[in-house]
Amino acid sequence: MTELASGMRWIRLPVPGGLSHINVWLIADHDGWTLVDTGMGIDPVTTAWEDLLQQLGATPIRRIIVTHHHPDHFGQAAWLAERCNVEVWMTDAEFDSALGPRHIDPLERASQRRLRLEKNGMSISDDIAPFLSGKGYQRIISGIPEKIRPIRDGELVTIGDRQWQIIVTAGHANGHAALYCEPIGTLISGDHVLPTISPNISLWSEDSAADPLEDYLSSFARFRELPAETLVLPSHGRVFHGLHERLDELEAEHCVALETALAACESPQSAADLIPVLFPRKLDSLNTLLAFGETMAHLRYLLRTEALSQISDTATIRYRRTT
Ligand SMILES: [Zn+2]
Repeated sequence: MTELASGMRWIRLPVPGGLSHINVWLIADHDGWTLVDTGMGIDPVTTAWEDLLQQLGATPIRRIIVTHHHPDHFGQAAWLAERCNVEVWMTDAEFDSALGPRHIDPLERASQRRLRLEKNGMSISDDIAPFLSGKGYQRIISGIPEKIRPIRDGELVTIGDRQWQIIVTAGHANGHAALYCEPIGTLISGDHVLPTISPNISLWSEDSAADPLEDYLSSFARFRELPAETLVLPSHGRVFHGLHERLDELEAEHCVALETALAACESPQSAADLIPVLFPRKLDSLNTLLAFGETMAHLRYLLRTEALSQISDTATIRYRRTT
């Protein structure tokens, strides 16, 4: 736990795998703290929180705000909310994502997803199976919090004696909430803007109009409105200045990926064919799944801008350049 100049506290919690950590934030509130994001629902993080709560002593957590439903952000929300007897503030879209599709049986969902992967040229290894049913997610969250307070885009939340504006954008997650405090020029960017890695932008929706990459890139206008000197507090990596430059870099990375995919589609390619083209490094099974989702997001973007057409005359869906 590190104190920032604004009086906020920066806490780093462990995340297994390549990410290695998540940053969560304490903002001074009346008689305590508002916590933004919670860490993954796994034992080492619960142990870390036991210790941190003791350090906080007489200034307890009064409220929890969650940027989005991913397990490293939302994982400890239920446990901490019960422990501290507080509400969890998050967007409706993210709460829905955390609950998962209620109208569909997990096994049915897994088989639908498996079918979709196979149609796109993917072969499914056994270790990917839990991620298809949603069971993998449930294992790394502490549960669903009882008391939820919905937050909305543009809402001003008073924390201590300052107001924070909620900025809801889609792309990485449907209802991802960032928080901006003008008086201290600080943006809690969640996973939406990260300093060294590009957040995963995946297409999983069955909706033919879904276009998460377009959602993501068009959201940048919202962040470009913020002052260039804004201090960015991201969920992974170090706090940084240079928000506008970072947005330019992220946009350029996606443009390169789109160009690369388009060039490869001179001859028909399936989504599976394109994964090693877009992600040349070796990937474990979870990252292969994330890479598949991200490849699908880029293909959807190119399909919707009519740069690619879809060929479905064989068992596997393939894409070809239109010009
Ligand atoms: Zn995330």
